[in-house]
Order: sequence, then structure tokens, then C-alpha cells
Amino acid sequence: MGLFSRRQPKIKVQTSKRDGFSGWLKCTSCTELIHVNELEANDNCCPKCDFHYRLSASDRIKSLADKDSFTELFTHLKPTDSLEFVDSQSYPDRLAKAQASSKRDDSIYVGTCTMNKIPTALAVMDFSFMGGSMGSVLGERLTLLIEYALEHKMPLVVVSSSGGARMQESILSLMQMAKTSAALAKLDEARIPFISILTNPTSGGVTASFASLGDIIIAEPGALICFAGPRVIEQCIGHKLPPGAQKSEFLLQHGMIDCIIHRKDMRKKVAEFVEFFSGNEQDVRDVSCKSLESCKAQESVDSLPAKLRELMALPDDNPEAQAST
Ligand SMILES: [Zn+2]
Repeated sequence: MGLFSRRQPKIKVQTSKRDGFSGWLKCTSCTELIHVNELEANDNCCPKCDFHYRLSASDRIKSLADKDSFTELFTHLKPTDSLEFVDSQSYPDRLAKAQASSKRDDSIYVGTCTMNKIPTALAVMDFSFMGGSMGSVLGERLTLLIEYALEHKMPLVVVSSSGGARMQESILSLMQMAKTSAALAKLDEARIPFISILTNPTSGGVTASFASLGDIIIAEPGALICFAGPRVIEQCIGHKLPPGAQKSEFLLQHGMIDCIIHRKDMRKKVAEFVEFFSGNEQDVRDVSCKSLESCKAQESVDSLPAKLRELMALPDDNPEAQAST
């Protein structure tokens, strides 16, 4: 029998699963070979280069809230096609596909949970649902949650992961920026803390509204955080952006965010922030008065309470302590 006349190959490829997926992946950041089990055990971060892969909204809730403490609210709101928008597909068709693949009705989970046993209002956006886009349901659910936090005097934690406003809802999605920001202003007046967590990617109208209004703004390492993406800006200005521009480390250097926290420490740190804000009214009042802009100025950062400086990993203002580190 000739070598080239064999119909069946003699060597069989052994795979662990029927679909042929062996469980090995090439890291998109460092190109090293990693196993999916290793990735899952490491909170979806590459064990070789620490690249933070996207987490699903349900995994994010598990990673932040106390076990089985999350109760979802305002699920009665469903997206509708009030503009009868059609691009290459109609909006109802796009929604139906996204709903069928995700088993969710829109791109956000809002509800209550406990963090370190402290009742907290939590919202988590899901990038896998139409790019985590902000439509009227996302805006309304988030606004209702902010009002719920205000009524029940609960700290608010929002995890953003979004491509921005949902173009299929046009002006209706843009209106959510003003609505959520106005609700957050009431929360600020009532001195209730709001912690904003930015994950890869957070962009467009979400960055330009509620995601940037946190009393504390935390980002995951290496997350893309921007209004317009790097490609759009480069095409617009005709220049390449500097390496790392619009990444969390760059934003921290330029005072746009307060701290970068690794995913494995996020639960502990966020719970500590919630505990700090909930446990000491005087400190909460001091910090929320300063809020976003003034906290970024060096002189007011120096006057932050010591415990908060420690949580934000800011250098100690005690020169002796600085010298010893
Ligand atoms: Zn890697």
C-alpha cells in the first residue's frame, strides 16, 4: 500500500473534549501557552504575565460579594425598540441574539449584597451583552439602584465594562449619562459613598458619566479606559499615541483615577473601603466633601485620613515613615 493512498491518517490527535479543544490557550498578551484550568484558578489572569482577562458579570459578583448574598433588583425593566432602529440588522433582532447567547435581558446586573457583612448596593456591567453598551434599561436600572442606595443609606459599588452608549437607542442612550450623574449628585449631597471600579475596557459615555464620578475610582491593571479609543484618536490627530496611553497606569500617573488594584486583592480592598466609609461618619463627610476633583490635587490628598491613604496605597505624609520605606 503506497504512502499517499492511505485514506485514514495513522496518527490520531488526542483531545480531552469532543469539540477538539484541548484546554490550552495562547495568551494574547505574552503569547505563552496557558491551560484554561490554570487561568480559572488564577481569577482569569494570565499566570505568566498577569494580563487581566475579562470576567463575566456573574463571576464578578461572586468575586466581590459575600457568598450567596447578591439579590438582583429591577429586573422588570426590559429593552424596547422605541426608535424602530435598523442598521445591517434590526435592533430587536440584535437584542434577541444577545439575549439568546447570554440568557440575560440587558447588559447590567443591579442589586444588593453584603461585602464583609456590610449591606451594599452593587451594579455590574456585562461586556458580553452587546459590548456592555449603555441603553435606557441600563441607565434606568442603575438610577433606580442609586435611589435605592440613597433611601436605604447603603454604599454603592459599580463595576464598569462598556463600549459606551448603545447607538441603536441614539439620544435615549445619551440621556442616561445626565440621568445617572444627576442621581449620583443626590447621593453625594447625602454623603453616601460611591466606589467606581473600571475594568477593561471602559469607554465612551460610561467613562464620560457615572464611571468617572466615584468618590474613589479604582481600576484593574492594564485596563483600557478612555472616551474615544486609541485607533479613533490616532486617525483623528494623524499621530501615534505614546505607549500605554489610555491604560490604567497612564491614567493613575495623570490623576484621572485614584488607585490600581489587582483582581486577587479587589474583594478585600473594596470591602475595606466600604467598611471605612460606613464605619466612620466624620471621615466619610470629609472625603465626600472633597470628592472627585479636589481629591486629585496633591494638597488635598495630603489631608486625607491616614486609613484612607493606606487603602489607596498613597505614600505616608510622615517623613520618618517615608525614609524607612
Ligand atoms: Zn500572558
